[in-house]
Amino acid sequence: ATPTAVMVGTGVGASQGVLIKGGQALESAHKVNCIVFDKTGTLTIGKPVVVNTRLLKNMVLREFYELIAAAEVNSEHPLAKAIVENAKKFREDEENPAWPEAKDFESITGHGVKAIVRNKEIIVGNKSLMVERNIAVPKDAEEILAEAEGLAQTGILIAIDGKMAGVLSISDPLKPGAKEVISILKSMKIRSIMVTGDNLGTANSIANEVGIETVIAEAKPDQKAEKVKDLQDNSGYIVAMVGDGINDSPALVAADVGMAIGAGTDIAIEAADIVLMKSNLEDVITAIHLSRKTFTRIR
Ligand code: ADP
Ligand code: MG
Repeated sequence: ATPTAVMVGTGVGASQGVLIKGGQALESAHKVNCIVFDKTGTLTIGKPVVVNTRLLKNMVLREFYELIAAAEVNSEHPLAKAIVENAKKFREDEENPAWPEAKDFESITGHGVKAIVRNKEIIVGNKSLMVERNIAVPKDAEEILAEAEGLAQTGILIAIDGKMAGVLSISDPLKPGAKEVISILKSMKIRSIMVTGDNLGTANSIANEVGIETVIAEAKPDQKAEKVKDLQDNSGYIVAMVGDGINDSPALVAADVGMAIGAGTDIAIEAADIVLMKSNLEDVITAIHLSRKTFTRIR
């Protein structure tokens, strides 16, 4: 393609809300034959809500939520925001919930949070966090977790002073059109893969809903990037990565084409080659079409 054609292609992209940071990104996009999608905030809306609360201890819900909100209010994680939002329903003044003080707050990346609230040790997070801290996960908790995962929800465990006290089910629905995008990509002979920090059960349920066959779950940020490299080096794919989070940025950099969701974090947007300003998944296809138009003679 001539420099003029590249300039035109980039311009058309910009007018459609697809920000392409340079000719190389526009060129690479038409060769992509495998796309790695992050789950939370990329395939899903990314605004999770608590849909179910199960107490496993004899205590009032108001007190239960007060303790976990006091811990989670210190976390930036979308799941933490969902939990705090739900906890407000149990306050007299939802605008000024005035949570009790949390001491020794600790954020365990990819697992959850810990804090001391009212002299009680509060741990909120996934099963591996409980296992790591030697907290027994009883059978009824396991059953609620399995039920949540089957419904494509994320199950979050709460331990108070080392004993399982409750389970929350949190739902983050698929973005509208996500399923269609995956199916169109398939017809374009482009393979779709999902990577996520979430557990395998939930990840599989979401993948199943959206029509993705290959799932990598419980992936740390560097493992997401390693997966991209593995697809490039060992399977010979030209890989695009689509993500929104800080935890996606190493993979966005490793990919042949990194695409960031416009509503995502600044760090992801900076790491990407292409920014989908409207945060629409359809624009993954817009970008590839634009590249094909610019770099192949007839399509
Ligand atoms: P994702 O790719 O789903 O955003 P993360 O690596 O951020 O994954 O988190 C992985 C898992 O760790 C979450 O699905 C959740 O089970 C748990 N987790 C992380 N942060 C928190 C938190 N603040 N509160 C409760 N659970 C958390
Ligand atoms: Mg995400």
